[in-house]
Amino acid sequence: MFSCDHEADNMEDVIKRAADLLERSRKVVAFTGAGISTESGIPDFRSPGGIWEKYEPVYYQDFLDSEEARQKYWLRSKATFPVIRDARPNPSHLALVELEKMGKLDCIITQNIDRLHHKAGNSAEKIIEIHGTVAFATCLTCNMIYPREMIQKLLEENNGIYVPHCRECKGFLKDATISFGQPMPEEETNEAKRRAQECDLMFTLGSSLVVYPAAYLPRYACQAGAKLIIINMTATPLDHLASVVIHAKTGEALQQIVKEVKMQQIR
Ligand code: NAD
Repeated sequence: MFSCDHEADNMEDVIKRAADLLERSRKVVAFTGAGISTESGIPDFRSPGGIWEKYEPVYYQDFLDSEEARQKYWLRSKATFPVIRDARPNPSHLALVELEKMGKLDCIITQNIDRLHHKAGNSAEKIIEIHGTVAFATCLTCNMIYPREMIQKLLEENNGIYVPHCRECKGFLKDATISFGQPMPEEETNEAKRRAQECDLMFTLGSSLVVYPAAYLPRYACQAGAKLIIINMTATPLDHLASVVIHAKTGEALQQIVKEVKMQQIR
């Protein structure tokens, strides 16, 4: 079921080692990526069958410059929004709720835009969304915010290709998510960096760790002396920095680790 980097270790030992690290830590940061939500039915970007196999990315500058790029963007968004809106949290998200209840979780820094950590029941003030959220659309001119569901109705009413505009200033509307080439949200980015540098343990969960600047965060944590646990189906470029690497589904591994910590606390 599991594989791990240390071939000589069996999975039970690896889970125990991760649980020991968790038990000894006081400030735990979970850094989550698209892989934590695939078990909720939301495809990631880079796996086989992922989003990039179906749709080409629209770069931010192209969105600003070209009506054709905006049409392409909203066509993809119209198709993917219902999948994300209707998705339910899976065992990985629920394990992070358990960590919060145990008083271990400093925060979740998520690259995901799907709001599943909120839906699972983690406190909103513990969730830092560094790539924005699909719950809203914003006007790129006046920053007016619109519920994304309202925009979806407009997209569906207009069967043809439709680009929504702001009611107030007629500026372009775009999902409140970060596209390639779009500046990262300053407040969230700074806060994420600070929390990464102050934690004593970081879990990276379901991230290929190839998207920058987000992938700097585990590096910042390690440079500041934190331990790193990586749980991902496939190898990542940062595996060599981690104390524990588990190549498995995040839900199965994380639930076992949390269970082991609870057992240790009873013993
Ligand atoms: P990515 O697609 O680059 O990598 C996902 C990783 O998760 C892959 O390495 C894959 O092997 C692994 N994975 C897939 N299913 C898994 C599972 N069940 N358990 C463990 N690992 C699993 O995604 P990324 O690193 O998050 O970065 C790309 C960008 O994708 C982010 O900016 C994010 O905003 C965006 N994105 C978000 C969602 C979402 O909100 N759910 C979905 C797609 C893309």
